[in-house]
Amino acid sequence: MYTSVTVTGIRGLPLIQKGDDLPGLIVERCALEEGDIICVASTIISKAKGYTRHLKEINPGDRAKKIADMTGEDPRFIQAVLDQACDVLIETPFTLTEVPGGHVGVRSGVDASNVEDGLIITLPPDSMKEAEVIRNELKSLTGKDCGVIVTDTCGRSFRRGQTGHAIGWSGMTAIRDFRGDNDLFGKTLEITEEAVVDEIAGFSNLVMGESNNGVPVVLFRGIPAWSGHDDLYFSPEEDVIRKALKKE
Ligand code: GDP
Ligand code: MN
Ligand code: MN
Repeated sequence: MYTSVTVTGIRGLPLIQKGDDLPGLIVERCALEEGDIICVASTIISKAKGYTRHLKEINPGDRAKKIADMTGEDPRFIQAVLDQACDVLIETPFTLTEVPGGHVGVRSGVDASNVEDGLIITLPPDSMKEAEVIRNELKSLTGKDCGVIVTDTCGRSFRRGQTGHAIGWSGMTAIRDFRGDNDLFGKTLEITEEAVVDEIAGFSNLVMGESNNGVPVVLFRGIPAWSGHDDLYFSPEEDVIRKALKKE
């Protein structure tokens, strides 16, 4: 049962450079408690780990040039998008791709914002692993077992506007499973699964902001533990939207 949850943006983090120790920088700025959940913007993980590319070093291939012609984007940027993708769902009016791990995102989550000119940021190749590594390091620095969610700002189907999504997590299950619980009238719930990691990531994105806020880490305290499973992404066979997109 929820009583109250506190949500705190961690201020004062520097502009992250390759090689920076994110867990160390985080624990210098907040006193962690057991059960806290830390959301970390994928952008700063990529900067710290060097998952960035110089546009001038990218040679676009034929497919990237063809897509860039249609979308009016930089073919080198599109090449980076294709390099990150394990499946391309649509090419126009924007590229929608699956990246390793199962996340489906616009332009493979490749981002040219909050980074120096000429540089682009790609998503970590294994965000689940990044979450686990940060969680383990936070534990060894503080002795506290915290949950960690790696977030990215993503568009949604059917609705305008971006929200924060979880692309990696550790110390929790992605989904809270209500199946088998009773509703207020005693009926057994059969299909209710709550994507808790996305709900938390969404709120963290609100606190992070998108531009020059400088808050890439958000701390949640007071969220009770839950149980469920990690099958956040539909398999291609069960994903009706993806099947419809691929039919064309
Ligand atoms: P994304 O949602 O993971 O793509 O990340 P954003 O680029 O939207 O950034 C999320 C938040 O982190 C915003 O408040 C940015 O201003 C902030 N941010 C991005 N990079 C840095 C950085 O290197 N240092 C600090 N302190 N904040 C950053
Ligand atoms: Mn992003
Ligand atoms: Mn963002």
